[in-house]
Formats: sequence, C-alpha cells, structure tokens
Amino acid sequence: MGNPSRVGQHMPHNVRRPRAEWQEQLAQGVRDVRAIPGLSDEQYQRLEAIAKEYPFFTTPYYLGLIETMDPSDPIFLQQMPDVREFENPDFLEDDPLDEEDDMPVRHLTHRYPDRVLFVVTHTCAMYCRFCTRKRKVGKNPVPPPHELQAVFDYIAAHPEIRDVLLSGGDPLTLTDGALEWIIANLHEIPHVELIRIGSKIPCVNPARVTDELCQMLARYQPFYMNTHFNHPRELTPEARAACARLVDHGIPVGCQTVLLRGVNDDPETMTQLMHELLKARVRPYYIYQADLVKGTNYFRTSVQKGLEIMEALQGHTTGFGVPQYIIDAPGGGGKIPVTPQRIVELTDDRIVLRNYEGGVYEYPTAGYDVVGAGADAPGAIPDYFPEFRE
Ligand code: SF4
Repeated sequence: MGNPSRVGQHMPHNVRRPRAEWQEQLAQGVRDVRAIPGLSDEQYQRLEAIAKEYPFFTTPYYLGLIETMDPSDPIFLQQMPDVREFENPDFLEDDPLDEEDDMPVRHLTHRYPDRVLFVVTHTCAMYCRFCTRKRKVGKNPVPPPHELQAVFDYIAAHPEIRDVLLSGGDPLTLTDGALEWIIANLHEIPHVELIRIGSKIPCVNPARVTDELCQMLARYQPFYMNTHFNHPRELTPEARAACARLVDHGIPVGCQTVLLRGVNDDPETMTQLMHELLKARVRPYYIYQADLVKGTNYFRTSVQKGLEIMEALQGHTTGFGVPQYIIDAPGGGGKIPVTPQRIVELTDDRIVLRNYEGGVYEYPTAGYDVVGAGADAPGAIPDYFPEFRE
C-alpha cells in the first residue's frame, strides 16, 4: 500500500504533466552505436566516428521493428550507422541537387516556378542513413523565428508561389504550437493555395500523429501530407492507425519511397509495399532513385533495377498504386520521371505501343479536328450524330 498520508492530496501545480507517448519515444531515443550488439571495440569506434560526422538517432519503436540485428535486415540497414558511409567515390557530393544554390533566403529552396521547399527544422525522429540532406540533418539548430519570418516575407513578395512544401528535417518533430505558427503564417498569404508536409514520423514515431495534431492541420485546408515508407514491415498497426487518423481528418496522405539496395530493390518487396500502402489508405506518389549523396553510396541500385520494378508494377496492379519513378537530376535539374519504354513507334499517323504483357497495339495519332469530324473538317459534326444537324 502507498503512504496513506498522501491519499486525497491535490496535485501540486508545479508537477510536470506526464510525457505523451510520442514524446517518450524521443526522450528514450537511442544515439549510442553500442545498441548494435556483438561488435568489437574497434568496430564500435569506427561507427562512433561515423555517427560523429553523420548523427545517429532512432526511436525505440523503430528499433523494435528490426528482426535480425545486422545489415541483412532492411529496417536495421536504414537506421544503423555503417562503415560504408565513409566510402565516397569522387562523383558523390554533399549537396548533389544544388539545393543551397537555389536558396533566395535561408531555409527556402525556390527551384520550380510555382512552388517552394521550406526547411523548417533540421531535426528528425530518426536519421535515415541514406538521407539526401545528410549534410545538415541533426547538425544545425532549428531556425530562429526571424529567419522563418524572412521566408514568409519572401513568399508573400512572390505571387507566383502557390504551393509550399514544409520539409526538413522532419516538420513533425516541432511542437503543435510551433508548427501551427508556421502554417498559419503561410495560410494568411493570399496566393498560397496549398500547403504540404513531408514527414517520416508516421513510419518512425506514429504516436506523434495525435488527434490534436490532425485537428490543427485540418484547419488549414487544402493540406496534404507525404510520408515515407520504404518496406512493407514498416506498415505496422501503429503506422496504419497514424495514417488513418490523418485521412479521417480529411488530409490526403501520399508516400515517397526511396529505392534502396538491400531494402526494397526487388519487384516482390516493392509490389507488397505498394499494396500495404493502399490498404493503409496511403497513395504511392514517388519512388526515388537514390541521389548521389556522400555517405550513402552503398544504398544505390542501378537505374535498370528501378525500371525492372516499374515494369513489374505498371499494368500488374492497381493504377493508382503505381508511383512515378523519379531521378532528381544532379546539378539542380529537378525531378524527372523515368518510365519503361512503352512507345514502339510514333509517326504523324500512328503510335505503336507496348502493353504490360508485351502485346503491341496501334492508335491513330491525329485528333478529332482531323479524323473525327469527317469530310467537313475541321469542326464539322459527323454524320453519325444527324440529330445535331439543322
Ligand atoms: S526523416 Fe527525412 S530528412 Fe530526416 S533523415 Fe530521414 S530522409 Fe532525411
């Protein structure tokens, strides 16, 4: 029994509220490479050197999804430091997409005419070892309000910007209050038509997607979320519930997957992932070819492998379960979709196409104004609609 003298006492005002489950995940987060069992002291020291260059942090939740504590496990591989991070051929760069060159103000990349990428934090709930922004995540502090204000001012001064993507780092590592301050400021700008968030949180700390968070985001419609799942085992009941909470609050959820060697670089795994996403009411959006980022080369597959996976998806499964396969062009060229070759021949008269089973089909290239309107073209009403004639 407890101390009877305490029974019935009021809670003092200065007692801190218990941490929410998602906060507990961050508070109990793992940053010591010795969480990897069975290595020698020398191996630990090498991994510690890597974690010093590229921070290591993960949640107990995501750590718990590992089945085999070595790099043969796709969940282990994505989150645990690896000695291959220091293997860097010359063609790799810290910032191969030249994001920093397209920054008119700090934290804002303005590459495409009508949309911008706004880096609202450099913190994540788990530092993916293959991250494109490996050069800065976990290293730089959260931008101070005056720097964020400079971003709002820039967007407000550029009426061509209609779409703002909040990214990072992971925006959902911010508190609801800080996030709402950013979103509300953007929402007030008349020409900003939609706001999106890119977040790994539903995958690595799904408890963060609380009803309160969803209610707050839903106040700023149209609002979209793109999350980031790379392996079917990541679609746990908790992750599905997090995605369902977002969708139930009217927030469409998509998924950006990265094609990763040893994680999802085979048609069966990728097809299963797309099916699990659809069951979780998440729409597959992109499969990214890995960028040429320093410290991540061991994750890169061939482009042929990506095309083989797209061949296995297109036509073989639900159309909206097939994402676009994207190469983000080095040097700031932007995202370029890459598709298996379907056009066998294209002339002024016809297009010859190859379908998903290899069958070859023909279609006339000319449109209504040439062949549909008959002899009186252009614009004439064809004979098979006589009721429309005078
Ligand atoms: S959550 Fe996103 S930004 Fe953070 S480490 Fe992973 S890929 Fe990079």
